[in-house]
Amino acid sequence: MLNLILFGPPGSGKGTQAEKLVAKYRLLHISTGDLFRYEMSHNTELGLLAKSYIAKGELVPDAVTIGMLRKRVEANPDVKGYIFDGFPRTVPQAEALDKLLVEKHQTISALVELTVDEDEIVKRILLRGKNSGRSDDNDESIVRKRIQVYRKETTPVADYYGQFGKSLTVEGIGSIEGIFKKLCKTIDNHVGRKA
Ligand code: AMP
Repeated sequence: MLNLILFGPPGSGKGTQAEKLVAKYRLLHISTGDLFRYEMSHNTELGLLAKSYIAKGELVPDAVTIGMLRKRVEANPDVKGYIFDGFPRTVPQAEALDKLLVEKHQTISALVELTVDEDEIVKRILLRGKNSGRSDDNDESIVRKRIQVYRKETTPVADYYGQFGKSLTVEGIGSIEGIFKKLCKTIDNHVGRKA
């Protein structure tokens, strides 16, 4: 099993690269942001709750997010591995994910962080906001808030997996294809080394 966490600030290209990684490694892509947007578009109770946080650029509470993630994983047990995108975003989420995988006799293979500087991120997200229909991508103050939340609450997740020698980084600047090649090389080296 190959279980990857694709990590990095909003706008670092996780969604784009996740799609390519899924095609190459045949993994199930689980994006908590996409799951929340699906719930919001169907006006479910969960969607309405998530919206009240997402619209402010804040994180949806851990208990809600972990419950949703667990359901998705448990609904898809027979896969070759998972690629987690936008999850875990807090250390308690990381601990909950580890616990869930242990129950399945599995583990996280690696966390791969796409590094991109803040000005580039803001530029990319505002550009994406013109077409994505995502209201949290249109307002610069919300975008900056999301980056602030990322630095404060989410970056400790990379240190958490770092203690186990599982945190890797790839520069998320350049062409989509170029970044993808670097990502694959980094993942293959890590997994190969461990095998
Ligand atoms: P994303 O598409 O990953 O950028 O997520 C969009 C928004 O959904 C985030 O700004 C958060 O408000 C919320 N969200 C997505 N994933 C999580 C998570 N793992 N924990 C808490 N909130 C999340």
